[in-house]
Amino acid sequence: MTYTNFTLETDADGFALLTWDMPGKSMNVFTMEVMDEIDAIVDQVVADAAVKGVVFASGKAAFSGGADLTMLKAMFSMIESERASDPEGATKRLFDAAGRMSWLWRKIETCGKPWVAAINGTCMGGATELAMACHARVASNAKSVKIALPEVKVGIFPGAGGTQRMPRLINTQDALQIMTTGQDLTPSRAKALGLINEVVEPDQLIPAAKALLKAGVDPVAPWDKKGFKAPGGTIWSPQGVQLFSAANAILRRETNMNYPGAHTILKCVYEGLQVPFDTALRIEQRYFTAILQTTEAYSMIRSLFVSMQELGKGARRPANIAPTKFTKVGIIGAGFMGAGIAYVTAKAGIPVVLIDRDQAAADKGKAHSEELVKAAIAKGRSTQEQGAQLLSLITATPDYGQLSDADLVIEAVFEDRGIKKVVTEAVEAVLPAGSIYASNTSTLPISGLAENSKRPDQFVGVHFFSPVDRMGLVEVILGEKTGEKAIAVALDYAAAIKKTPIVVNDTRGFYVNRCVFRYIDEAYDMLAEGIPAIMIENAAKFAGMPVGPLSLNDEVAIDLSYKIMKASINDLGEASVKKHHMALIDKMVNELGRLGRKNQKGFYDYPPKPAKKSLWPGLKDLYPQKKPEDVDFAELKQRLLVTIALEAARTVEEGIVTDPREADVGSILGFGFAPYTGGTLSYIDGMGVKTFVALCETLAGKYGEHFAPTPLLKDMAAKGDTFYKRFDPYAAKKAA
Ligand code: NAD
Repeated sequence: MTYTNFTLETDADGFALLTWDMPGKSMNVFTMEVMDEIDAIVDQVVADAAVKGVVFASGKAAFSGGADLTMLKAMFSMIESERASDPEGATKRLFDAAGRMSWLWRKIETCGKPWVAAINGTCMGGATELAMACHARVASNAKSVKIALPEVKVGIFPGAGGTQRMPRLINTQDALQIMTTGQDLTPSRAKALGLINEVVEPDQLIPAAKALLKAGVDPVAPWDKKGFKAPGGTIWSPQGVQLFSAANAILRRETNMNYPGAHTILKCVYEGLQVPFDTALRIEQRYFTAILQTTEAYSMIRSLFVSMQELGKGARRPANIAPTKFTKVGIIGAGFMGAGIAYVTAKAGIPVVLIDRDQAAADKGKAHSEELVKAAIAKGRSTQEQGAQLLSLITATPDYGQLSDADLVIEAVFEDRGIKKVVTEAVEAVLPAGSIYASNTSTLPISGLAENSKRPDQFVGVHFFSPVDRMGLVEVILGEKTGEKAIAVALDYAAAIKKTPIVVNDTRGFYVNRCVFRYIDEAYDMLAEGIPAIMIENAAKFAGMPVGPLSLNDEVAIDLSYKIMKASINDLGEASVKKHHMALIDKMVNELGRLGRKNQKGFYDYPPKPAKKSLWPGLKDLYPQKKPEDVDFAELKQRLLVTIALEAARTVEEGIVTDPREADVGSILGFGFAPYTGGTLSYIDGMGVKTFVALCETLAGKYGEHFAPTPLLKDMAAKGDTFYKRFDPYAAKKAA
């Protein structure tokens, strides 16, 4: 028999090598077709007496990325459309679809012949679950091998037997930790845990798997034998009792119960370990069906998997412009940001010219890369040769002449219109015609800066976030005159340095900072109302934000907030900044000298390490304090999320953000907006625009006009619209 995605070759010993190699794809993933073929292959192997055992291998550099999540997205749409006419039937079909992979892996496990998984590279999700259903596992010791069950990161959980096989193969505590965090395991760690039988040199992988078969692999899983005991003991043993109460508490601390997928892992393991294996799989299947129907799973899969991939592949890139192959990128300003941009550019293998006012300043910028390289080598993430190669790509110099053959120049000098003008003119004097000029400004509108340029169509904003080497987002900002080539080059550059881009139109604060300032502003309001600072910070964390607003303000620097407020008042008038916000920040900066982490004094105090930062006690004396029991904590959480989401909705209404995928992905990657919501607009769509509008009206009545719902939101509520329906990112594709 021949298959589209697999080849099957049986050797003289009767061992079949099953090689998975999907045509036209760089990575093997489970699709309906792949699962149909595996189903047929199991039947063929069972029927063929000549086959004594199977080695399941990959023909690609990776083993497999797991399930094709677009398949799940399609499943959601199917259920959605069928639910109205046949709710019971739709749920039953979802239940069957949710269990398809699980029962297929069970078919392999119980087919009567031994299977060995040969893991040659990345092995994720459903692929790890498949490997656990095989009767033994061999992994290559190549650096690229990562084994994980990362489903929790997109709002679901390992629903193809993962929650049942892992705690039967390894210690329950380790299994819970691995599944609830979605962490990567190296082959050696997986072997130490008991998940992998052998780790071998890459070229020994298939021979080692066959040698295992030759030595005799039991085709009956341990849990299908009488008297089986899980390695972590039963849940009623003293360890079991201790483990589950602690695991519940730890998970609560880590997730604040915002992630139903994570919590369900605990339920599956706890309940599944008490029953026979097939019943356990059925329990898992029921929970999986329930989780698939949660708003969190739907929104997280859409934003954190589908949209992120689409944006990463340049969903917004003008198709008619040829891709750019970067031969040289110039960076002007070797300060905090410029130094970081130089590093990520060289790391992508692109030669960089890093320019500052003098050689010493340029060298200081390159020294940042030297430090990062040293740290990467110390952690085993880079070799001496790779580090030396990266550094050799960075030329630090004050000489603008070196830009005469650059494809792209990124300006990251002081946030000062006058200095930026001088730099633009100096660069354009040497930059070849057709090359693109980008500014990393965080506050100055791009259209205004482009007035300093002789070729504003080649001028674009490329806004990075700090620390540049760790933040995954860049905001590409279009000035009024930015042309298609500039957009294409900016997006090609983002792809080259492996960052996810969002494309937004020009406005003060662009998209990300507009949202962030709303978050911080709400905290200023809360402080002024006398809410204890610790409640504000905790409400943010309970709402799913990674950093509280006061802590974030300390990181950004409170004097920067002061400067931005001053600039707003200058440009837009007194009414653009609330008086009590200005009074608070003026006092913090000018009277108390509390500038944030940078001078160890902000809303927090920063004592020398190892002591930890703590909220500044003096905050209590700034405003009369409310008693904690008089504060509605749930409402604090809502206020913080709603004010950000409302600002995101305004940016859509103003035409700043035009694609809901960008608002969502940008909010999660840019400032960690409660990831379980799927991002700012998914948060609104998830609760329903009508509910959101009602919530805004209630909050506006209590806390002020900044919560008033906008005309667009009211109109959407009246029409029963969602952002993804009204601003459908696939509309053009559907129409074509
Ligand atoms: P910085 O002060 O650390 O660095 C600015 C660098 O520019 C300095 O090294 C300075 O010597 C150099 N410079 C000044 N004038 C110059 C000139 N004429 N020619 C060459 N070099 C010159 O500032 P930064 O924090 O890196 O910010 C740089 C830009 O990035 C600003 O526009 C800022 O708004 C933006 N930005 C900053 C952040 C952040 O978190 N700091 C985030 C995003 C964007």
